[in-house]
Amino acid sequence: SYDVLIVGAGHAGAQAAIALRQRKFAGTIAMVGDERELPYERPPLSKDYLAGDKPFERILIRPAAFWAEREIVTILGNRVETVDPVAKTVTLGDGAVIGYGALIWATGGSPRRLTCTGNALRGVHAVRNRADVDRMIAELPDVTRIVVIGGGYIGLEAAAVLTKMGKPVTVLEAQDRVLARVAGEPLSRFFEAEHRAHGVEIRLNVTVACIEERDGAAVGVRLADDTILDCEMVIVGIGIEPAVAAVLAAGADGGNGVAVDAQCRTSLPDVYAIGDCAAHANRFADCATIRLESVQNANDQANTVAKLLTGAPEPYDAVPWFWSHQYDLKLQTVGLSIGHDAAIVRGDPAARAFSVVYLKAGRVVALDCVNATRDYVQGRALVERGAIVDPVPLADAAVPLKTLA
Ligand code: FAD
Repeated sequence: SYDVLIVGAGHAGAQAAIALRQRKFAGTIAMVGDERELPYERPPLSKDYLAGDKPFERILIRPAAFWAEREIVTILGNRVETVDPVAKTVTLGDGAVIGYGALIWATGGSPRRLTCTGNALRGVHAVRNRADVDRMIAELPDVTRIVVIGGGYIGLEAAAVLTKMGKPVTVLEAQDRVLARVAGEPLSRFFEAEHRAHGVEIRLNVTVACIEERDGAAVGVRLADDTILDCEMVIVGIGIEPAVAAVLAAGADGGNGVAVDAQCRTSLPDVYAIGDCAAHANRFADCATIRLESVQNANDQANTVAKLLTGAPEPYDAVPWFWSHQYDLKLQTVGLSIGHDAAIVRGDPAARAFSVVYLKAGRVVALDCVNATRDYVQGRALVERGAIVDPVPLADAAVPLKTLA
């Protein structure tokens, strides 16, 4: 039995353990993770790690010795299968039963799979964990063409890396623009044009019918109009399903994620949830219940629970931020643009340094900044305050954002 048992050894789980020890939590801590690796950073998986520019050791969240030094027990390569909230125990895949004082559910999510024929063929890949990317890297030498299904950040980042490696890449997107779920039209059109300029074929408004097979391996993607795109590798980046089955089966409220309050408490006593799997009311989304899939949210929710468990509760109220790297483009995002009613472009996208400022009822709700770190840094305060700004100077990149607050 452990005073704190953390389920999931990813960004959120690792940060919860780190923050507890930083805050002088003296009880016992264990972290169970179903991957074999010590906690590592996931963002490089579709960026420098896939490119081969960063060895695995350099993406570890802490050096291997850290965990034992801090007396954080790591139980890896093992899944929590069930939770008993009355006995306050969990059962692992190998049958072991572990008791807890507090349980922190930090399981992230599993990549959504295609539902069509051929979805599990050799050559069809998700990009969620190290094993996924190592399998891709091992196949790459024999791959002459790649199809990426899904024009979200992960699909586009993978497309950028693989294109730079000299592989012909086609990106398929069901909607009429890439990044439709997370960004406004100007940003989508900019990235679409960038990828095309780098030689990526982008097909919008397309539906995948099935994956074509030969000898158990993918050999192409068939579209609904019967076009076949030949390829030996298919990368599927169509979102995740939060890994919450066991905790919902134990009686926790939720559905798309496990429901938590501002302290990251679930409806079960002494059970908390953080990171990609936690559905919470977010002030930056008009207090709608959402899940955020970002390192920021994972770390900040982990800190929220650590504060609560060390007797200094503070509600989660962090401004969302995110980044993406594609080619030499550094995108930095602050706030949530969902539901915006105006998108104002500052600077010239053709110059490859500009920002999109999103407004809702006159208030700044988010910024997407491409190679424009100053706007990102200064715009953050506007988002935090929900500042009302005059759109005319806002559109003038020569006017610093900090003068508009
Ligand atoms: P995870 O990091 O996924 O950790 C959850 C862990 O729990 C996993 O190891 C999982 O296998 C394990 N687990 C699940 N169920 C169980 C169980 N029952 N028992 C034991 N273990 C279990 N965010 C950004 O902010 N910027 C980026 O640029 C960015 N790029 C990304 C690129 C890629 C390819 C991916 C996949 C994600 C990216 N993200 C990025 C998102 C970010 O990595 C996630 O938001 C973050 O990892 C969430 O942390 P988490 O701890 O909630 O989940």
